[in-house]
Amino acid sequence: MCPKNIWLKLHRPELASQFALSAFELQLAEQGNEVEEYARKLFPEGVLVTKTRDEAVQETEQLITLKTPAIFQATIVVDGFIAKNDALVYDEKNACWDLYEIKGTNSIKEEGKLRDHIDDLTFQASVLKRANVKTGKFFILHLNKEYVRIGDLDIEELFAIEDMTEKVVARLPQVEEQMGAAKYHLTQEDEPMKGCDCIYAGRSAHCSTFKHSNPQVPEYSIHDLARIGSSKKKLATLVEREVFSLDDVPADVDLSDIQLNQLLVYRNQKPIIDLDAIRTEIEALIFPLYFLDYETFAPAIPMFNGFSPYKRIPFQFSLHILDTPDGELRHVEYLHEERSDPSEKVAQMLVEHIMPKGSVISWNKSFEQGVNRELGLRQPESRIALERMNEQMYDLRDVFQKQYYVHPDFRGKTSIKKVLPALVEGVRHADLDISEGGAASDAWWQMISPTATATERTKIAKGLRTYCELDTYAMCQIWKHLRDLAF
Ligand code: SF4
Repeated sequence: MCPKNIWLKLHRPELASQFALSAFELQLAEQGNEVEEYARKLFPEGVLVTKTRDEAVQETEQLITLKTPAIFQATIVVDGFIAKNDALVYDEKNACWDLYEIKGTNSIKEEGKLRDHIDDLTFQASVLKRANVKTGKFFILHLNKEYVRIGDLDIEELFAIEDMTEKVVARLPQVEEQMGAAKYHLTQEDEPMKGCDCIYAGRSAHCSTFKHSNPQVPEYSIHDLARIGSSKKKLATLVEREVFSLDDVPADVDLSDIQLNQLLVYRNQKPIIDLDAIRTEIEALIFPLYFLDYETFAPAIPMFNGFSPYKRIPFQFSLHILDTPDGELRHVEYLHEERSDPSEKVAQMLVEHIMPKGSVISWNKSFEQGVNRELGLRQPESRIALERMNEQMYDLRDVFQKQYYVHPDFRGKTSIKKVLPALVEGVRHADLDISEGGAASDAWWQMISPTATATERTKIAKGLRTYCELDTYAMCQIWKHLRDLAF
């Protein structure tokens, strides 16, 4: 967690609206809570600390004194630090407490993430040590991506446990030093630094308070240059020269071709269009054209047979079919409105409507191809047809990723939500109730919830249909726009 962000939360509550979580982030938090609830089942004699603030600390002290077999959400406050332990498990043999950090991830191997997880654990180990709670081992408990649900959930198989004791012990001196610095930083009444560290990071890394900390950076800036977040040195050079506006980027900065194109179209306010290349792409497509888009939900805890943690449930698809270049556009769609596995119905409908001749057009095809592959594993009778559809698949986004068409309004992005309004008038995602994939996924989850009313379900279903249909309609309109330009 970023110290500047925490300081702002503590000392500038009036900025609270900027800290609000999106529907998708809330869903992730909910999933994290669900993972914790299931993980607790591994310690059946455990007791959950349900009180809050000082009472939670007192309840934890009592449970520790009673040598409770496992304490969930054990709350320790000492030296100005507060730690909430996911699970503190009593080791009777060695008369000490083992600490478990529960992570809702499939793997902890990724370099940066592993270090963060170990630091979380080490912070808690330090707080326990300061509170004179004798500790033994330190573990990370996370989801097991190899687990495939068959029948009831097998909790033992659903989770993997990794011993991090050695790593935590080795990390303790550095983390304690950081804790001292963070405490000093957070207790300062004045805002600790004028800017913040994200001045050296691409836009996708910024939190919503970036503008507050860096008012000199325009809304569309060097931080929006395509993939600038992966070129740390380049970004640092610009920041150190106090160049923030795209108008001021000097010619001697070594930008990639994509970044140079972005700058050029911004400055000229005119698109770059390679008509020959677009013509070649369009000519290679075979009729009928099938514009396909999936919406998926990827729950941490597998809901149905054949699913592993975070495997995608394809709960909806939209398919627009164009049989001939100037033919009538046909629409086929499916939305699964029950709390059950939609795989069979989705696979059957696709096999029924997508013939072996023709191009299947998607946006970011690796996503649709991945969903088809997973669907084929669960629906073996449709597997060959789904694999064949993957071979027929063309990624319309390629035209933009390969820079055959670069528009100033794309702002360095090639998402359909950026491309559509720049090329086609009158069709926009922003006007919809559900306007992006994360919100669609959350909406489906709400719709199939046992507590949703009939009215709520109807409203959500309508929003989902409109959103998914727009994506494939948009692809068709973009294709038409390119064709009209090229021929
Ligand atoms: S923009 Fe980045 S560095 Fe700044 S407060 Fe947010 S997360 Fe922290």
